[in-house]
Amino acid sequence: MGAVDSEELGADRCYKCDAALEGAEMCPQCGRKQYRVCYCGEKIPVAARVCPYCGADWSHSHRVRHKSRSSKLDYKKLARSAGLGALATLVAAGLTNIVITSIARRSLSSHQVMPSSFLARVELALQSLGQTTIGAMQRAIDMGASLVWVFIVILIGAGLGAVTYLARSGFIRRRRSRSTHKRRTRAE
Ligand SMILES: [Zn+2]
Ligand SMILES: [Zn+2]
Repeated sequence: MGAVDSEELGADRCYKCDAALEGAEMCPQCGRKQYRVCYCGEKIPVAARVCPYCGADWSHSHRVRHKSRSSKLDYKKLARSAGLGALATLVAAGLTNIVITSIARRSLSSHQVMPSSFLARVELALQSLGQTTIGAMQRAIDMGASLVWVFIVILIGAGLGAVTYLARSGFIRRRRSRSTHKRRTRAE
C-alpha cells in the first residue's frame, strides 16, 4: 500500500538527498520523513506544495522540523532570565510592601480606620500586638514568615523569568506552531 501511494504521488526518491526510497516512509540515507499528515488526514509527500487530496497549500511550511534552530536549551541564558525575573519580582514585591506598610502606619497614627487591604490589616494588627511581649514573639514569627515569603517571591519570579526565556527562544512556541500555521493557512 505504501509503495503504491509513493508511486501515485511521484515520491520515490528522498526530497532532500535524492536517495531511492523503495516505498519507505523514512529515507534510508538521511533518515528524513518523506510524508506528513495533511489537514484532511491523508498522508502527503513532504515536498508536495499542494495536497493532492484536498488542495491545502503547503508551500510556505518548513519542510524539516527536526532541524530546528535551537533544539538545545541554553541553561546559562535560562538561569540569567530566571535570575532577572526573580530580581524584578522581588523589587516589585518590596515596593508593594513598603507602600502597604506606610499606608498602614499612617492610618494607625491618625484614625483607627480599618484599611480595605488584608495585608494592611495584618500589619495594623501586628503593630497593636507589638506593645505586648506576645507581640514581640509575633513579630519574630512574622520576620520568619516574611523570609519565607521572600523565597516564595524569588521562586515565582525565577519561574516567570524561565518561562519568558523559554517562550522567547521558541521552546514553548514550537509546540503550538502547527496549530498557528493551520489557522494562517486557512485564513489565506
Ligand atoms: Zn534522504
Ligand atoms: Zn489534504
